[in-house]
Parts: sequence; C-alpha cells; structure tokens
Amino acid sequence: VPISNIRNFCIIAHIDHGKSTLADKLLQMTGTVQKREMKEQFLDNMDLERERGITIKLQAARMRFVLEKEPYCLNLIDTPGHVDFSYEVSRSLAACEGALLVVDASQGVEAQTLANVYLALENNLEIIPVMNKIDLPGAEPDRVSKEIEEIVGLDCSNAIHCSAKEGVGITEILSAIVKKIPPPQYTAEMPLRALIFDSYYDPYRGVIVYFRVVDGTIKKGDRIYFMASGKDYFADEIGVMSSNQMQVDELYAGEVGYLAASIRSVADARVGDTITHFGRKANESLPGYEEATPMVFCGLFPVDADQFPDLRDALEKLQLNDAALKFEPESSSAMGFGFRCGFLGLLHMEIVQERLEREYNLSLITTAPSVVYRVNCVNGDTLECSNPSLLPEPGKRRFIEEPYVKIEMLTPKEYIGPLMELGQDRRGEFKEMNYITENRASLIYLLPLAEMVGDFFDQLKSRSKGYASMEYSLVGYRESELVRLDIQINGELVEPLATIVHKDKAYSIGRALTKKLKELIPRQMFKVPIQACIGAKVIASESLSAIRKDVLSKCYGGDISRKKKLLKKQAEGKKRMKAIGKVDVPQEAFMAVLRLE
Ligand code: GDP
Ligand code: MG
Repeated sequence: VPISNIRNFCIIAHIDHGKSTLADKLLQMTGTVQKREMKEQFLDNMDLERERGITIKLQAARMRFVLEKEPYCLNLIDTPGHVDFSYEVSRSLAACEGALLVVDASQGVEAQTLANVYLALENNLEIIPVMNKIDLPGAEPDRVSKEIEEIVGLDCSNAIHCSAKEGVGITEILSAIVKKIPPPQYTAEMPLRALIFDSYYDPYRGVIVYFRVVDGTIKKGDRIYFMASGKDYFADEIGVMSSNQMQVDELYAGEVGYLAASIRSVADARVGDTITHFGRKANESLPGYEEATPMVFCGLFPVDADQFPDLRDALEKLQLNDAALKFEPESSSAMGFGFRCGFLGLLHMEIVQERLEREYNLSLITTAPSVVYRVNCVNGDTLECSNPSLLPEPGKRRFIEEPYVKIEMLTPKEYIGPLMELGQDRRGEFKEMNYITENRASLIYLLPLAEMVGDFFDQLKSRSKGYASMEYSLVGYRESELVRLDIQINGELVEPLATIVHKDKAYSIGRALTKKLKELIPRQMFKVPIQACIGAKVIASESLSAIRKDVLSKCYGGDISRKKKLLKKQAEGKKRMKAIGKVDVPQEAFMAVLRLE
C-alpha cells in the first residue's frame, strides 16, 4: 500500500481495562489471526505475563483493513503496562502517529492511563478515546468521557463505545484509526533512520529487532549501523509481523518491521537506539535514547553452593534478552558466592527471580532490595553504594544522598486521609493535592525511592480498598540522615540482613525487625540471640528459645509412608534456608525488613 494508507498506532490503557482483549479483537476482525489459531491473548505471549495479567514486552502486529474499497495497512505496536517499563512505553509511542486511549467505562481514569496520555501528547499523537466494557451494567461511558475531558482536556464527544469482550464497536475503532490518525510523512529519500522499539533474543537467529522506519529505506543485505551502540551489522533478514514473521526485501519510511543481523545480545540493539546505514549515516540520531539504569539491587545466592555456575549461566542467558538486567559477582562470609543484581524496579526483579527458578530450576535466596545511595566521603570521593553491607564507616563519610521519586496517587476522595498517612509514614514530602473531578483527587508527594521499594504499592491498594492507582518518576538525589542497621544472629553479623534506614526510624525498625526475625527463624536446639545494632551499639534484641527439633516424634508409631512424607516436607522446607553459622535462616527472613507493619 502507498504510505498514505499506512497507520501506526498503539493502545494506552490502565491494567485490566481491556487492552489485550481489544487487541485480540482487532486482529480477529481484520482476519490477521484466525479464531482457531488464536491463543487466549495473542499479544502477551509470555507465560509469566499471562499469569500476572501484565504486559511486559512490546510486540507489533500488522493488519489489513479495507475501508470504502481502499486497503489500509494498520500497524499495532504494543506497549508494556507497568511503571517499571515506562521508558519502553515512551519509545513505542514515539514509533506511532496515533493512540487508542482505552478506559474501562465502569471505572474511570487511573494514574497509569494519565501518565501515558501525557507521554502520547508530548509525542504529538492523535488520541482516539474508547470507552470499553459498555456491556457491564455499571458502565457509565458518558461520566467517564466527561472525566477525561476535564482532566486531560481531550475532546471526548465522539468517544467510541465498545465492548472488547463482546466485539461491539470494533469496526468503528478500525474506521476511526484510518480517518483520524495521520499517515506517516514521506521521507523515503533521506538517509535511513529507524527507531528500535523492541528486541528479543532468538537462539537460532540472534537478536530480532523491531523497528519503525522513520526516514529513508532499508533493504535486505544492507550494512547497517546502530548509532548509540556504535556497532555495525548486515541485515540478513528483514520482514513484517503479520500473524507470523513474513520476510520482505525492502521497508520504507513509515513502515514497521523486524530484522535479524546475527546480533548476539539485546544490549547491542537497545530499545531507543537509531539504525542508520553504515555507508550513508544520518547526521543525527532520533531523540529520546536513554541507557538502562537499574534502580533497585539485591543479592541472589544459590541455596546450594554447587549451583553457583548454573546461576551464572542462567543470568548470562537472561541478559541476552534483557538489556536492563545487570549483575556482578558478590560474596559474603554468611552467604558464600552469589551475584549482586540490578533491576529497573521491583516487578522486574520479581520477574527475573521467578524465571531463574522456574526456567532454570535454581533454588535461590534473595536478599532485600536496596536502592543506590551516593556516599560523599571525607577524602573527597563520591561512591555509589547499592549494598548496605559495603557502606563506608561513619568516620569515613561526610554525608549520604538517596534517590527521590515524585509520585502521583489518584484516589476516590474518601481515601485521601489514609493515603496521606501512607505518604507521611514513608518520609514523603507533600507537594500538591487537586480534585480532578468532584469525587477524585490527585495527591503528589516527593518520597525516597527506598520507601517505595517494598510494600508501598500493596499498602496503597489495601488502604484504598483497591481503588487508588499510582505512578512515579525519579527526580534526583537528596541528602538524608541515614544510618546502617546491622543484624547479628547468635553473635554473628549477618551481612545480607543489613539495611540503610533513616536515623529517626532506626529504633522502631530495629525493634520490629528483631521481632519479625524471631517469628521467622525456626527454633534451634540452643538459645539464639537476635540483635539489631548501629555500629557497636545494640538497639534492640530478642532471643529464640531452644527446642528439641524432632519432627518424627509427631507420628506415633510406625506408619512408614507418613514418616517419609514428613521427612520430605522437612527437606523441602530446608531448600530455602541458608545456614548462617549454626543457624538456619529461611528466605522470608531476608525479606522481613520489607514487611514490618
Ligand atoms: P489489559 O490488562 O488491559 O490487557 O486487560 P485485559 O484485556 O487482560 O482484560 C482484563 C479483564 O477485563 C479480563 O478479564 C477481560 O476478560 C475483561 N474485559 C476486557 N474487555 C471487556 C469488556 O468489554 N467487557 C467486559 N465485561 N469485560 C472485559
Ligand atoms: Mg494485557
């Protein structure tokens, strides 16, 4: 089709508002995917995603749609739906001319939707509002349309009423995409510039790169150059994504496609990088490229020391497909050999952890996540410290800075009080409160990232009965009065349990943590003191009383199969334990500091 018949668009929606369901219907209605080959949700094809109902990785799909006898090519570029991946969202928006704004008409606008709408507006996208789930009895599409008009100032008088589930309004959406979203500009004569908006590692062909040609053309066999990584390759294969990948010889400005060029790791073909020709380089790369900066770090240790090489192999393999995952070896006397790993956020961390365990069969101990502190030392050096046990001694440091985020919470007005308390508890600095409608407010806080890592999101949900949503972005570093809280078990310093906390909270955290550890650590054959210390000073202590641990005494007499079962259960229980000195410490203890209330 000519460039005037191409439309590139994405779907913006809050989690659970129906993005995947709608995408599926669009694919079905355009005959891109036949109903019988349809998996539950075509676009989210990672198991983990489906289980968690989140969209992690971007993908694209090309659809053919005929309107008034004219054939159009519609490229849907999928966006991930979680704050940890907002950089990827911004790059996929940059590859489009328009966006469907899908809002659950029985709910309303949420924080994540808003954040993405603003990103879309910054990228000058044409936005088509879609009120989804109108089949639900509680749907109020007109109220929600008004809400969007008030908050975003977007004209919603022609918002499309849709039920993705029942297939209502789908043709209207396809027509609106053609009529409202502008076609790409014609720049095929210019030097090649293509924006990478996704990539994944294929063990047979190397990295598959998804891109939007912004200027120029790309041909099969071209020698290409990646402007941020500085690497060059031959484009062995280029193609488009229909229900499957389909090879083509050439792609022009405005088109969306994929390429394979024997690239060894996604870190060499990063989202946001610009592809140009090696022999005719573009003067300037496309705007918006950012390095992946891990915000959260934790230690990963195999329960069984023999699994260390397997853990390293698994991390290397995962990294081929995850440019944001960082790791380096770490060892401690308590934990033995493992890795210090960096992640974009907590969800990213959980995903990696879960994949290591499920796909690579590893049994791991994960230590509590830490943010990256900036330590200004007496000798004038500035250190980045993401491992509390390596924080320089008080005498060696002048002051510590910690990362701050700006968070926006959207909530029905009855939960303003509980959420303000949450903000206060977490050392938040209140910035603003605005009523966005009569019943809903937006609360803005500046808050240490460290206070958000952990159960902040869970707390937000539970204190608002599930009705509030949030969004955050890093704003920079600030000086804080921080101290290191150490934990000793049975007189031994347990490095992985060390945390960095605010001076004013140290005592209460010390007390709560020792108490919690007492609950979590199984009693031993001897008495075990558990102490929290700042430097040499003990600020809280508990003690585990001794017990004679003999599970078999519980089965009276001879049932051998029952006995075996119990022994097996005990062995499984052990799997997630780490022996610290003479004491077995379970996985939960390493995360205890995150859940103290
Ligand atoms: P996503 O998180 O935005 O991708 O949302 P999903 O497409 O996974 O949908 C979330 C839930 O809403 C699923 O249980 C869907 O079946 C349901 N859902 C999606 N669209 C509709 C709709 O139009 N009507 C109703 N009643 N439910 C819908
Ligand atoms: Mg989804």
